[in-house]
Amino acid sequence: MATEMREPIESGCPDPFQYMHPTMRRNFGQWAYHEHPRPGVLLHVSKYGDKIWTVKAGTQRILDLFTLRKLCDIADEYSDGYIRFTLRSNPEFFVTEEERVQPLIDALEAAGFIVGGTQNSVTTLSHTQGWLHCDIPGTDASGVVKAMMDELIDEFRNADMPNRVHITTSCCQINCGGQGDIAINVQHTKPPKINHDLVANVCERPSVVARCPVAAIRPAMVNGKPSLEVDEKKCICCGACFPPCPPMQINDAEHTKLSIWVGGNHSNARGKPTFQKLVASGIPNNPPRWPEATAIVKRILKAYKEGAKDWERINEWIERIGWPRFFEEVELPFTKYHIDNWRGARKSLNASAHIRF
Ligand code: SF4
Ligand code: SF4
Repeated sequence: MATEMREPIESGCPDPFQYMHPTMRRNFGQWAYHEHPRPGVLLHVSKYGDKIWTVKAGTQRILDLFTLRKLCDIADEYSDGYIRFTLRSNPEFFVTEEERVQPLIDALEAAGFIVGGTQNSVTTLSHTQGWLHCDIPGTDASGVVKAMMDELIDEFRNADMPNRVHITTSCCQINCGGQGDIAINVQHTKPPKINHDLVANVCERPSVVARCPVAAIRPAMVNGKPSLEVDEKKCICCGACFPPCPPMQINDAEHTKLSIWVGGNHSNARGKPTFQKLVASGIPNNPPRWPEATAIVKRILKAYKEGAKDWERINEWIERIGWPRFFEEVELPFTKYHIDNWRGARKSLNASAHIRF
């Protein structure tokens, strides 16, 4: 494992080379090709003939100490002491001899981890990074991940989707919200409820006024105290005022819903990046298993699996068949809320860093 530790700095991630498997370090930037011998395993071959097999497993996303120790024990015994985590909290292990691949897979499966998540599979849902310590969640993003992956376990284990599927979740409506082939995002459905007794003590009122993308917030005196008021006709229930001013409570058990968006793609490898589009809204935020949202995600995946051509991503499949057919295939109603006809957006949405009052 790591021999020399770099001096800590106050920000940024540590130098990754010290944690890298020696075969990876030696061949960094020198890989000739890679193969996918079975779901959950990738073989990389370098220009110099070195080979390394990477075995990927799934976890429950938020990891407790005991699970981490178990994963590290497996790495010590089967993977030369090396382990790394992907963006989606999937641990990856490395071996340089083919005959060590199966014992590693057996050890992972015996410990309850699922091997998979490579190539044309549904890989583990990602959720927003700050969930455990964030101040504005409207749902438990990590719980949605666990509940949905329990249902999609076979799609993780068997790489038999038309192409890779990235699913994301968000726990509020405005910040690190998901952008993926399928995104499950929070949707607030009512304007904030203001606790006027607290605003003057807690909120910097000009910052809160400036935060609103539609200029719906005004300073006001209420019961003789400086406070704020919201023009509810203008408010789009985005929740942007809640982080700088917690007394503007927007999330609650009844009005905080989930929405599902499809077709987002960051990559520009084969085509331009694409924005996701809303396909279902007002879905109950229903812990601990979120059955309504999960059922819709499964319908979308089933239609995609049956209808897409090989290697078509979800956005490419929808572009080919068209949105009317997509809504038919996934049996979702097309409503007026799917049409972006809001004329105020061009002039009033905050599209720059300028502060407006
Ligand atoms: S999505 Fe929102 S609530 Fe969740 S971690 Fe990001 S900023 Fe916080
Ligand atoms: S910031 Fe968003 S939620 Fe708050 S008042 Fe403005 S539109 Fe409504």
